[in-house]
Amino acid sequence: MHPICVTLPTMAKVDLKQLSFKELDAFVLKLGWKKYRAQQLRDWIYRKRVSRFDAMTNLSKPDRDLLESRAVIGCLDLMRHQRSEDGTQKFLFRLSDGQAIESVLIPDEDRHTLCISTQVGCTLDCRFCLTGTMGLIRNLKAHEIVDQVLWMQNRMEPDQHLTNVVLMGMGEPLANYREVTEALTRLTHPKMVGWPPRRITLSTSGLVPQIKKLGESGLNVNLAVSLNATTDAVRNRVMPKVNKHYPLESLLSACRDYPLPPRRRIFFEYVLLKGVNDTEADACRLLRLLKGIPCKVNLIPFNDYPGAPFGRPDDETVLEFQKILIEGHLTAFIRKSRGRDILAACGQLRTEAAANRLPVSS
Ligand code: SF4
Repeated sequence: MHPICVTLPTMAKVDLKQLSFKELDAFVLKLGWKKYRAQQLRDWIYRKRVSRFDAMTNLSKPDRDLLESRAVIGCLDLMRHQRSEDGTQKFLFRLSDGQAIESVLIPDEDRHTLCISTQVGCTLDCRFCLTGTMGLIRNLKAHEIVDQVLWMQNRMEPDQHLTNVVLMGMGEPLANYREVTEALTRLTHPKMVGWPPRRITLSTSGLVPQIKKLGESGLNVNLAVSLNATTDAVRNRVMPKVNKHYPLESLLSACRDYPLPPRRRIFFEYVLLKGVNDTEADACRLLRLLKGIPCKVNLIPFNDYPGAPFGRPDDETVLEFQKILIEGHLTAFIRKSRGRDILAACGQLRTEAAANRLPVSS
């Protein structure tokens, strides 16, 4: 089912996707309707993913006309779609204010993982990441985050479905805490999108206070931490902004205290940068740092791009690093690089608009 998106009118109608659970209840009551109607609307919007009121067949014609006069169901506007040689697809969306974000769909055997954005740009300026070169343009609203999932679910072939959502696209999710947690609430709420939390992973560069808040929120999504160094000296070089505020000791202490549901692990992402953090000594230090934390490590050989300030280690170095971790009884995977030819791989997202405006800094 492909949505036919309505064009937002100039007069101020309410976009129903912008409303929280309670706000939609209030909207329905304001129309003079019974509250159960709000759930009918939620089913159409989040489960059946329609974008037109005339598709809402369990509402009478006068009710649909009333909705038409008072509300719209906005949706993302696709600007560009690219497909990588390996099947990874990158989608560039225009937001209602003209800003742009990217989402990446990564097919892998029987899985389809969608990587979504949470900010336009990012303030944190991690040195291996292209998004960081944009600076922060603005935070996404909850509905703009959720809509990336709804849009993609509509786009899937009838015999396919999304299996995982990762908040690892443009932006630091925990720097947009309120909207991101509202989006996660909508994604996991059984009366809204209804995704199991264990199929959603939030990736952070390590904002310690927000990690603690997320742990207390009861949202129960997976946590991934982008670590990328085993000493503060190297992390200050690679992730200067975040490590200045939250050095390794405080970050790892927050991870140690993070309340995990049974059988869950924290994922540590470790981008391997040639000659910077990829030595045998780094691997041994990593083992010591993560001792006692229920976790898995994803090793990501750096995805270079034109003008990149780092290099990609050779396969032998990557395998040796993994071997040391495994021999130290740590679960460690090497993440296959996906979509490199269309700059859709980890750390390579930056919207075309920004690319035209900003130089790639080192
Ligand atoms: S890695 Fe994440 S937190 Fe760091 S600059 Fe890129 S988007 Fe921001």
